[in-house]
Amino acid sequence: MSDTIHLLPDHIANQIAAGEVIQRPASAVKELLENAVDAGATEIRLLVNDSGKALVQVIDNGKGMSPKDAQNAFARHATSKISTIEDLFQIRTMGFRGEALASIAAVAQVSLKTRREADELGTSVEIENSKVTETTAISCAVGTSISMKNLFFNVPARRNFLKSNSAELKHIIEEYTRVALAFPEVYFSLSSNGQDVYHWEGGSFKQRAIQVLGNSYQTKLVAVGEQTDYLTITGFVGKPETAKKTRSDQYFFVNRRFIKSAYLHHAVANAFDGLIAKENFPSYILYIDVDPTQVDINVHPTKQEIKFEDDKIIYAFVQAAVKHALAQFSIAPSLDFSLDASIQQLDAIQQPFTTEKANTAASQSLYEGFTKKNQAHFIAKSDSASKQDWKNFFTTLPSTDNDQTVHESESYIVKSSSMGLYKDGSPLQVNEEAVLMQLHQTFIVAPSHSGCIMIHQQLAHERVLYEKFQKASAHPHATQKSLFPVVLELSVSDAILLEEIIEDLALIGYEIEAFGPNSFIIQGIPADVNAGNEKNAIELLLEQFKHFSGDIKFSKREKLIRCMARQMAIKAGQALTQKEMHALIEALGECDIPNITASGAPTFVEFKEDYLNGLFSK
Ligand code: ADP
Ligand code: MG
Repeated sequence: MSDTIHLLPDHIANQIAAGEVIQRPASAVKELLENAVDAGATEIRLLVNDSGKALVQVIDNGKGMSPKDAQNAFARHATSKISTIEDLFQIRTMGFRGEALASIAAVAQVSLKTRREADELGTSVEIENSKVTETTAISCAVGTSISMKNLFFNVPARRNFLKSNSAELKHIIEEYTRVALAFPEVYFSLSSNGQDVYHWEGGSFKQRAIQVLGNSYQTKLVAVGEQTDYLTITGFVGKPETAKKTRSDQYFFVNRRFIKSAYLHHAVANAFDGLIAKENFPSYILYIDVDPTQVDINVHPTKQEIKFEDDKIIYAFVQAAVKHALAQFSIAPSLDFSLDASIQQLDAIQQPFTTEKANTAASQSLYEGFTKKNQAHFIAKSDSASKQDWKNFFTTLPSTDNDQTVHESESYIVKSSSMGLYKDGSPLQVNEEAVLMQLHQTFIVAPSHSGCIMIHQQLAHERVLYEKFQKASAHPHATQKSLFPVVLELSVSDAILLEEIIEDLALIGYEIEAFGPNSFIIQGIPADVNAGNEKNAIELLLEQFKHFSGDIKFSKREKLIRCMARQMAIKAGQALTQKEMHALIEALGECDIPNITASGAPTFVEFKEDYLNGLFSK
């Protein structure tokens, strides 16, 4: 037998190593932007074509390279940032491994133009398959320009793994935003296929935060700032009203390096406990600065995870700092609770306040929240607490994700999820004369032929709409033309998302057209949707869609239909007339799978007569 081990040729070894650093165009964006920052640039421009698949170019006005450095920069382990192992523990630069340029050069065609201020002429270097193919002296601006063309041109298998242009551009924008947030004093611009996407002048941290989050955040940020001998934390959290259903707009930086940390996220979420609904995420941009010897940034090749010497201290500190900031904000009601114009128009504000109203109001948790000193922001808590009580009351309600708790009495209650077992017809066949009861504006209680049923109005309606949209997407849904088309201005990433689903939206009746960069015009809406808040509806839809987008097991259309159904369902808390309640039960009864929502929550429960009788036996 012959020996089977052989050494990989350099270019293959390089390509494999490159895979760890450069997975997609956005990885190159991150590395090139960080190099520009390390070079002390005050202006950094990023240009991409074809979402970075054809071109990623970064132009900076930093310190540039000597002709020799320009050629050496692309060798593996070529770095000017550390020279001894001790340096590793004092890192103040973004890069230090000397891997980025070597990796890029292994998987793309690269050209570099660079000049130092002291040099008359600059250097131009061309590289392909990790080899310098051409070096010339040229005249060029001070600083460095690196273009990476045709990523993975020599690794077709990797190229095939790249996602759609919109998805890749989204990743690029993400990396761009992270670096720009870390270095607000630097001018950053991004253009895509020759079109300007962003240009952000250098300024304060707050200015950069607003450039990123949008002008509407001008009055919605709470400043965080605490300092100890051990560490400093600065930055902003969004006021509770800016909390979103999706995890966007959440940034942690440690010594100006963006990091992902579920642990620290938890610390912030904890500080918001009671201020925002459980399913919502607070927005934040927080900068932690610690002595570099206290952190190990060396644990992950793309350096997004970090190990702290003592992470419990950091957790406690982050939580305290955010709590403190929020407390300061809520004890300044004169500044922050001024009602905006649209709220002042509401009936409740305009109408005289009668004793009767005062009594009802006083019994509501909202009122309590506002009258207890400094408690204004604890509204959500008392609200969710009362919902919790309701859950406890219905201990026998079949639960979707916790089926271990089986109550003895459950055998008498027919879980709606065991439908199909009904022998004498569906319990949803309710006599049309029957008087129905709406409990807490959430549940409908109706007599069934062998007991009674309790329907969750929102979940039931969600099922009805889900099936309707599902059928509609097979035969396009009717559209009503808007009399006054509404213009929708979106963030770049939302615009990309909307473009992706615009055709599916058309199938269910939304007629939307692109209208300039990141703007859309809503020309028509589904025939059965009330006109008036189309804009809001689309924005909500995008939010929910993002929430789903990690879920690869669903098709785009399925996700969309689920979002639409959830969004348009009548909500808990809405009063319904007898007619509406009957119509809902009838529509639910006509569904193919009436008993659960698309995501599996029960829509109703049946209480069998035997069970009800059993409750009253001695
Ligand atoms: P690292 O950043 O870890 O040192 P890189 O492969 O990213 O490794 O870069 C290699 C070296 O090339 C850097 O250490 C730096 O000296 C030089 N370099 C890279 N990009 C630039 C730039 N934009 N301006 C000046 N020098 C640069
Ligand atoms: Mg680098």
